[in-house]
Amino acid sequence: MKTRPLFWHLFPAILCIVLITLSAVTWFAARSFREFHYDRTRSSLESISRVTSLHIKAYLADLQTVEVSDVCRSIGEATGTRLTVVSPTGHVIADTDHSASNMDNHSDRPEIRQAWKAGVGSRIRLSGTLQEEMMYVATLVRIDNKAVAVIRVARALNDINQAVGLLTKRMLLFGLGVVALGALLAMFITRRITFTLNHIKAGSKAYAAGDFSHHLPSSNVAEIDVLTSTLNRMAEELHDRIATITRQRDEQNALLSCMTEAVLAVDTERRLIKVNASARELLQIPEIAPGEIPIAEVIRNADLLNIIEDALEADEPVEGEILIPEREQHLFAHGTALTDSENRHIGAVLVINDVTRLRRLATMRRDFVANVSHELRTPITSIKGFAETLLEETSDPDSNEARFLGIICKQSDRLQSIVEDLLALADIEDSTEKKSIEFHTVPIARVLENAVGVCLSAATAHNIKLAVDCNSSLETMANIQLFEQAITNLVGNAVKYGLADTTVFVSARVVENCVEVSVRDHGPGIASKHLSRLFERFYRVDKSRSRKLGGTGLGLAIVKRIALAHDGHVRVESELGKGSAFFMSIPYDPSKQVSASAGHGDL
Ligand code: ADP
Repeated sequence: MKTRPLFWHLFPAILCIVLITLSAVTWFAARSFREFHYDRTRSSLESISRVTSLHIKAYLADLQTVEVSDVCRSIGEATGTRLTVVSPTGHVIADTDHSASNMDNHSDRPEIRQAWKAGVGSRIRLSGTLQEEMMYVATLVRIDNKAVAVIRVARALNDINQAVGLLTKRMLLFGLGVVALGALLAMFITRRITFTLNHIKAGSKAYAAGDFSHHLPSSNVAEIDVLTSTLNRMAEELHDRIATITRQRDEQNALLSCMTEAVLAVDTERRLIKVNASARELLQIPEIAPGEIPIAEVIRNADLLNIIEDALEADEPVEGEILIPEREQHLFAHGTALTDSENRHIGAVLVINDVTRLRRLATMRRDFVANVSHELRTPITSIKGFAETLLEETSDPDSNEARFLGIICKQSDRLQSIVEDLLALADIEDSTEKKSIEFHTVPIARVLENAVGVCLSAATAHNIKLAVDCNSSLETMANIQLFEQAITNLVGNAVKYGLADTTVFVSARVVENCVEVSVRDHGPGIASKHLSRLFERFYRVDKSRSRKLGGTGLGLAIVKRIALAHDGHVRVESELGKGSAFFMSIPYDPSKQVSASAGHGDL
């Protein structure tokens, strides 16, 4: 847009107003002035004609034209007017300026015609003889109520017109002075406004350059004063906000740089916007300006990129393992989506821990447990075998010898169970880590029925009924042995801890993309304080009861490991006195389902 200085916005407007006002005033004043003088001249001419009429009446009655001419001449000279006496026929009887005999018939003169009609007539027109503007006033002369002549008095209007011209000229000159004054005024106002505006301009430039200490002076123009005080307030607020943001950024940077965990953040365009020193070192990220380079160009690890994608998409925090094969490094990442005030995803942040040492220690522990368990197997079997042989050879079953041998056999059984469970656990963990577990399409109903079949004799001994409820067409990818083992453990516990004359319900259904198997009993139930620790190794609610029932404290830990090996999870719902329900969920792939009729049966 084309811009002009403020002066050129104000001055033309002021000039227009002044010129229009001036023209109107000048025109009106000149017109009033002229009208006033014309009126005065008209009434004085009328008076002269009436006075003349009084003087010449007598002469007219006697048709003494010479006397009439003399009277007219002397009055004309005394008043500076031209007098003409015209007979009813239009014949000029006397005229002060010309010889009456040489003058043409005046009956067609408009003022004379009007006088004959109305008694008085007047006109302003160019004189035919003198070629100048004249005012004519004609009055009727009556003798005994009879119109005998018309006296016309005329005066040149030059002096009035000159006076009007002079007045107009003076007013215009005065107007020009006002215009010049207006220009000065416009300049003055412009200066005052531009002075303040220049301050505002300088202030805005300073604010744009980040200098918020600049203070704009107040103005006595109300609107500008509001503007300057608003700008001053805005600068103060911006200064405060920028100071807060800078402080927060510095705190954030200090926090991030002293964190041992690697932290990195990306925006929705997958560009790296924040990375701390630990992350640079751990992931070997070069020094780059934040927000410029896509993360895929600096980090080529597929696991990490997948977790970033998941974190960007998910509303919940995500986590996952990252393997760096070239350095045999194991990392564990927690990712969360970054959201703005309207809860829109604007990026994601990842906190990464190096778990390589922990992994090594866990492997060492597992190997140790597996080795010890393995080594214990043979001696336990020997002890058990010899004790059983000795017990069989004992003649008195009530002797101390028989009692002690019985205890040795029982404890050997327990030891054997523990060793077997420990070996099973180590085996599952090892296979999970090596990803060597084989998955096939498994019919869930068959798994449940097999598990129930294993526990059937124990259930019958406890007088407990087992009921299975599962769609026979339900299938999913799983390792059938492990899956069966887990369900057997759950059903075994339900039978072990359940009450006689009750039913244990085993069912499976699809819940949120998972096959959820539940084992529900009507046993004593578990107090809520134990629930969170129930799946830990060797955690038992009632140790002596568990031991008495031949429990190892590892059954639920095995169930949990199997669920994790299937990318699934376990949970428990229980209430004291009302029974317990154990749930194991593993991912469900609907494409694997085949249509068949539902199966439901009691065993
Ligand atoms: P255990 O070999 O002792 O049964 P588990 O790991 O299988 O070990 O179970 C851990 C503990 O959880 C048990 O000692 C028992 O106290 C409790 N528990 C497991 N299942 C049930 C159940 N169905 N009802 C009541 N308590 C149970």
